Amino acid sequence: MISPAKRLCSSSSSLLIKHQWHPIVDDDYIRLPNLQSMIVARIKDHRLTSDILQSINNIYPWPNSLKHVKRLYRNDNHLDILLYPSSFLTTMEKDQFEKYFENETRIINIPENPCLLRWQHDICINQHWPNLAFRENKILEQSQLNKDLTEQDEIILDLLQKIQENDKESHYAIIVDNEKQIPLVGSRDYRHEHPLQHSTMVAIDLLAANPIYSRENLLKKFIEKKDKKAYLLNGCSIYLTHEPCIMCAMALLHSRISTVYYLNKNSHIGALGSRYKLHTLKKTNHRFTVYHLEQINSDNALNT
Ligand SMILES: [Zn+2]
Repeated sequence: MISPAKRLCSSSSSLLIKHQWHPIVDDDYIRLPNLQSMIVARIKDHRLTSDILQSINNIYPWPNSLKHVKRLYRNDNHLDILLYPSSFLTTMEKDQFEKYFENETRIINIPENPCLLRWQHDICINQHWPNLAFRENKILEQSQLNKDLTEQDEIILDLLQKIQENDKESHYAIIVDNEKQIPLVGSRDYRHEHPLQHSTMVAIDLLAANPIYSRENLLKKFIEKKDKKAYLLNGCSIYLTHEPCIMCAMALLHSRISTVYYLNKNSHIGALGSRYKLHTLKKTNHRFTVYHLEQINSDNALNT
């Protein structure tokens, strides 16, 4: 049987295709930190290391912003030290330099900011400077991984498939209560009738029309100090056939959605991965996770 995910994803073509949710994360997690070039020298006599550190600190005190980079690196019998940036104009007196260091210096790169993830750290220590401070954050590492579809996902995707069978072009949205694992409301897209009636906006409107979300009830919740539950989409996820635009993404942010799952990217106006990553902006007052349904290669699918 062809899975709902396969039928709903326009790029699918093989029966062996397996799908997973791929997290859409901040660019800081998918690229290396910016690099800065530094001069490295090799210390002649290890017993002079503290003198050398004192002298070099007078020329270029190691900045706080680089405390994730250790200035010294010992390898077998060699001891290397980061002197100063390659663009630095003040250098050590020639006599003093010859007393402390071997002739040859070299230029290496160091990360300007601490590495956030293990893979970034591994590349930086292997290809650049081997002595960097790094503390692995297991929750952060985990949040970068693809995740398998749950039973709830399969049910919702099946539902979307059935709804969409006679109307493949339209966009659909289904809002789900995470705790009760039930769909609360769903909608198709009505933008042909009104430019603002995107499926996400209509679904939010339909949910807001429920009396439990009336102004009086929300006020009561605030008064009871259950403010975390007082937003419309607290504890809810939304499943979308298409990546939302900025308007819809902002509406989801304002309503405090917890997770957005979408099937098809929108390279022109997609606000959660394709064109923008609105959910990763540092200054917003609510964070939520976003996943895109992706096919994993058939070799992996065969092995599972
Ligand atoms: Zn929209």
